[in-house]
Order: sequence, then structure tokens, then C-alpha cells
Amino acid sequence: MEHKLPELPYSKDALAPHLSAETLEFHHGKHHATYVANLNKLIPGTPFADLPIEEIVKKAPAGPIFNNAAQVYNHTFYFLRLSPKGGGAPAGKLGAAIQKEFGSFEEFQKKFTETAMNTFGSGWAWLVRDKDGRLHLRSTSNAGCPLTAGETPILTCDVWEHAYYIDYRNARAKYLEAFWKIVDWKKAAENF
Ligand code: MN
Repeated sequence: MEHKLPELPYSKDALAPHLSAETLEFHHGKHHATYVANLNKLIPGTPFADLPIEEIVKKAPAGPIFNNAAQVYNHTFYFLRLSPKGGGAPAGKLGAAIQKEFGSFEEFQKKFTETAMNTFGSGWAWLVRDKDGRLHLRSTSNAGCPLTAGETPILTCDVWEHAYYIDYRNARAKYLEAFWKIVDWKKAAENF
């Protein structure tokens, strides 16, 4: 089964000034695309050849197949939860659950931002749901993905430098400020 680079549901310049067209051209058009191409080269003739991406991430041992599959999954998850009409706070059940778990949306936002800022080196910050429906913040290194811990991702922020270096250089905090303005909470709530 050939994996495909998902098309973005917005134009490359639609997230500016928060994320520039150049960032999306590199991040989606080159980094994400390369993980897809690598995965397609690695899996033929292996037990992972015909599995959907989530299953490869859950089942592959540490190594190149896991790294590329998880990076495909993580990037698709990230890009599809951004929107030029994003920002604000979630409504409905997800909004209520965030309030219950973190005290307030602002407190959640602060803690998620801390999780992203404290992720050392390359990695991802996540809001996840556990099997009992409770929300947690997670930080994963490199290609790490909460699916391997049996948790369901709700929202993620890519904190690899390639996600922000073109627009914000080394200023991860500025990228985080911009991230909150383009989070698509409607889409994020679909997994809750
Ligand atoms: Mn990335």
C-alpha cells in the first residue's frame, strides 16, 4: 500500500503571518514529503507493507520504519489541525473537559506551552486522551508518538526546529504564540 502526502486543507500562504508560505513549502513540501517517500521505500516486502499508518506506528520496532511512519502520522496530525480560521478556545465537550482537567483554558494553554518549551531538542508536544477519557499533556522526542502508549492524540505542536526556524529562528516561544492563533479546535475535538 502506497502512502501519500496529504494535501493541506488551506493554501500555502493561508497561515501567514503566523506560519509563512516558505515554512509550509519546506515543512510540508519537503520534510513531510520525505518521510512519506522514505516510508514507501522501506516497507515493501515487510509485515508493514499493507498496514494503515496508525498500525505501523503501533507495531513497528524502534528503527527507520517506525521513525518515518511516526513522522508521517505526526505531521499529518499537526497540519490537519491548523487553520487560517483557527485560534480561540474549544467549545463543547472538549472545552468542558479541558476546563475540568486543567482548571481553565488559559491554564491548559500555559501548561501545553511549557510542555512544548521544555521538550529538549527535536520532538512534539501533545494533548492526548487516555482510554478512560481523561486528558493529559505529553512530550515526545524525535518521532515519538502517543499512539505507542495506547493514548489518543487530540492536538500536537511540532517543536522540531524545522517547524519554526524560517519564521522565528531560535525563538520557539514566539512560534508557540503564533501556534495558538491557528489551532483548529473543531478538528481537534473530532478525536475526543
Ligand atoms: Mn516537522
